[in-house]
Amino acid sequence: MKEEKEQDVPWICDQCKEKLVLRKVKVSYLGGNFEVDLMKCPKCSNVFIGEELATGKMLEVEKGLEDK
Ligand SMILES: [Zn+2]
Repeated sequence: MKEEKEQDVPWICDQCKEKLVLRKVKVSYLGGNFEVDLMKCPKCSNVFIGEELATGKMLEVEKGLEDK
């Protein structure tokens, strides 16, 4: 129930009140460059990194590098 409610609310840029779009963004992490899908404001190009990405995906990236 809670998840359905969250999906109904689109991500909005705090500065321009624009709806964020999913874009491939190049990020630098631990000295490497990666392309990840991030929510980006089409107006000011502000990139928003969700909590899920910061605590989940990025950690996986870090692990992958350490394994190598
Ligand atoms: Zn914006």
